[in-house]
Amino acid sequence: MVDLNSLNPQQREAVTTTEGPLLVLAGAGSGKTRVITFRIAHLLDRGVGAERILALSFTNKAAGEMQERVAAMVGKRARGAVLSTFHALGVRFLREEAEAVGLSKGFTILDEGDQRDAVRAALEQLGFSLDRYDPKQVHARISHYKGTLAEPNPRFGGLDAVVHHVLPLYQQRLRALNAVDFDDLIGVPVTAMETNPDVGARWAQRFRYVMVDEYQDTNGAQLRMVKGLVRGHGNVCVVGDDDQSIYAWRGAVAGNILRFDAHFPGAQMIALTQNYRSTNHVLRAANHVIRNNVERHEKTLWSELGDGALLRYALLDDDEEEARWVATDLLGQKRQRALTWRDFAVLYRTNAQSRVVEEGIRQAGIPYRVVGGTRFYDRKEVRDLVGYLRVITNPFDEAAYRRIVNYPPRGVGDVSIQRIGDHARETGEPFWRLVERPERVPDLTPKVQRVLKDLDALLRTYRKRFASEPMEAVCRDLIRALNFADALVRVHKQPRQVRKRLDNVEEVASALRSFRERNPEGTLDDYLARLSLDTRREEDGDADADEISLMTLHGSKGLEFPFVYLVGCEEGLMPHQRVLDGDGEVAEERRLVYVGITRAQRHLTLTGAKRRLKFGKVQYRRPSRFLDEIPEALFEGGRGGTPPAPSEAEREQRNKDAFAEMFATLGGGGGDR
Ligand code: ATP
Ligand code: MG
Repeated sequence: MVDLNSLNPQQREAVTTTEGPLLVLAGAGSGKTRVITFRIAHLLDRGVGAERILALSFTNKAAGEMQERVAAMVGKRARGAVLSTFHALGVRFLREEAEAVGLSKGFTILDEGDQRDAVRAALEQLGFSLDRYDPKQVHARISHYKGTLAEPNPRFGGLDAVVHHVLPLYQQRLRALNAVDFDDLIGVPVTAMETNPDVGARWAQRFRYVMVDEYQDTNGAQLRMVKGLVRGHGNVCVVGDDDQSIYAWRGAVAGNILRFDAHFPGAQMIALTQNYRSTNHVLRAANHVIRNNVERHEKTLWSELGDGALLRYALLDDDEEEARWVATDLLGQKRQRALTWRDFAVLYRTNAQSRVVEEGIRQAGIPYRVVGGTRFYDRKEVRDLVGYLRVITNPFDEAAYRRIVNYPPRGVGDVSIQRIGDHARETGEPFWRLVERPERVPDLTPKVQRVLKDLDALLRTYRKRFASEPMEAVCRDLIRALNFADALVRVHKQPRQVRKRLDNVEEVASALRSFRERNPEGTLDDYLARLSLDTRREEDGDADADEISLMTLHGSKGLEFPFVYLVGCEEGLMPHQRVLDGDGEVAEERRLVYVGITRAQRHLTLTGAKRRLKFGKVQYRRPSRFLDEIPEALFEGGRGGTPPAPSEAEREQRNKDAFAEMFATLGGGGGDR
C-alpha cells in the first residue's frame, strides 16, 4: 500500500478524489506531478486494473520519469498502465485503428524535414514562389490549424489563403506515402473518435481514469482527445500552472486550464500552495518576476526549506567567456560542495546557444548531455540509415525512398527520379510500384532500371530478415551490404571523421538491441515510431550516467536540479529577439524565465554576455529586463556584483584540475561524493 502520509492535506485530497473531473491548479514545485504518481499508485491499491489507467505528459523524459517513480512505489503492479506522451498515445491509437482511419500497417511518421519537403512540393505544384513562401513557415501555419482542428479561412488572406490551397495537397501527399505528421498523431484520433461511433465507444471505455500533467500546455486538439477518452465517465484529473504556459506559439490555449469547468462540467478544483522544491531566495526571485504578468491566477510560492543561498549574477565579456565562466564555476562548486554532475543543469533560451556552452563545458572536461536540440538521430549519416529502415518497414514511404535511392551513390540521378515521379502523376500509378517495376517508366536507361531492381531486391531481402531474425545483427549486415564505410570515405577525407560517422551508424544497431531488450515484443516498426517521437522531443540517453544536463528553457519544464545556471540573460534572448521585433508576447517570455528559475532547488546563477557573435557579426547586448524585476537584495553582492571572471592563468590551472579530477573519477569511481 502506498503511504499517503507523505502528502500534505490538499495533495492527499487530490490523490483520493478519483471520481469526476478534477483540476489541480498550483505553482511550480508544489507537487502536482507527485499527485499524479500517487494517484496512480492509489488507484492500483484500490484494485483498479493497471490497463484502465492512463497518464499523459508532454515529453518522453517526463513520461519516463513518471514510469520510474510509479514503479518505485508499486513495482510490477503498474505494468499495463499507460504512462505516455500525447503523441505516443496517438501512435498507439493509429496502430490499433489503422484500418478505421485509412492507413496501412507500417505507416510512417514524417520527421520535420520530410514534413517541410511535402509542403515544398505542394507549393511548387501550385506555382507559389518559394522565395515568398518559406515552407517552414507555411508548415508552422498548417501545424497551427491542425493543432486547433480548424479550417484555414482563405478570407484572412496572406499565409492563411496559401495554406487553404496547400493543405489539401499536403494531406494527399501524406496519404500517398502512407504517412502522418506529428499533428496527425493527435488530430486523426480525435476525428476518428468524434465521427466513427465504434471507434469512439472503444476508446471512451478503454481507460477508466485519465490524468494529464502540464495541462496548461494543451492545445485544442489535445483537449478534444482528452474529452473523447473520458466521455463515458468523466474521470479526468489534470494538473498544471498557468504561469508555466509556454507553448502558446504552438497553439496551446490557456483557456483549457483557466476554464476547465466549462469543458468538464461539475469539475472540482484543488489548489496546492506549498513549494517543496526550492529555497526561499529562489522562490522570491520567481515570485517577483512573474508578478509582472497581469492576466494570471495570483500565486505566491513559499517553502519551508529556509532562505538558502542568494542568487548570483555574472556579466561576462562575450559568449565564449560566459561559457568558460560557467564551466569553471561549476567545477569549483562541485568540488566544494561534494555534488555529483547530475546535480547541475545549464539552461538557455535558444538551441543555437548550446554549441558555445557545450564547447566551454567540454574543454573543462565536464561530462554532459544535451537534452533536446540537434541530437544523435538528426545526424545525416544516421538519418540515411534510418531512411533504409523506414523503406524496409513501409514501402510506400516515398520521402525515405528518395533519400536513399542514390545514397550510397548508385548512379541514379535526380532526373531519373523526377521521371518516375512525373510518370506516377500522369498515370496515377503509385510511385512505390513504379520503383519496383522501373521498366514501366519510359526513358529510364537500362542501367538505372537494373540498379532500381537490385535495390528493390535488397529491400525485400531485408524486409524478410528484419521480420524473423535478431534486429541488431540484421542491421549490422545491412550497414555492411550498403557499404556505408566506402560512401563515407568518399565524402570525408579524414579517417577520424569517417570513424566517428561510422560509429554513429553502428550505434543505430546497438540502439535496436537495447530497444529490443526493453520491449521484447517490439518490431522494427515500433522502434521507428518511437524514434520519430524521440527526435522531436529528446533522446533518452543513459539515464544513469553522471553528467550535467544542458537544455533549453522549454525542455526543462517539470524537471528540478540543485544547481541551475541560466545563461544568456540578455535582451534578444530573454525576451527573445522575436518579441523585440514586435512578434510574440513578453508575458510568455516571462513565463519561460519563471520556469527556468523554478527549476533550481538550492542555487541559481544567472549569467549574460556583453557581446555575442551572431551570424558572424559582433552584437552588443543589454542585460535582460527580467533581471531588473528581481530585487537587488536577492543577489549575492547585488545585481552588479559580478563574481570575478577567472584570469587566463587561473583558467589554465582549473583546466588542469578538471582533467586531474576526471582521471580521478575514472580511476576512483565516484569522484568526490
Ligand atoms: P512543476 O510545476 O515544476 O512541474 P510540480 O508541481 O509538478 O512542479 P513536483 O515535481 O511534483 O512539483 O514536486 C516538486 C518536488 O517537491 C519534488 O522533488 C517532490 O518529490 C517534492 N514534494 C512534493 N510534495 C511533497 C511532499 N508533500 N513532501 C515532500 N516532498 C514533496
Ligand atoms: Mg510537474
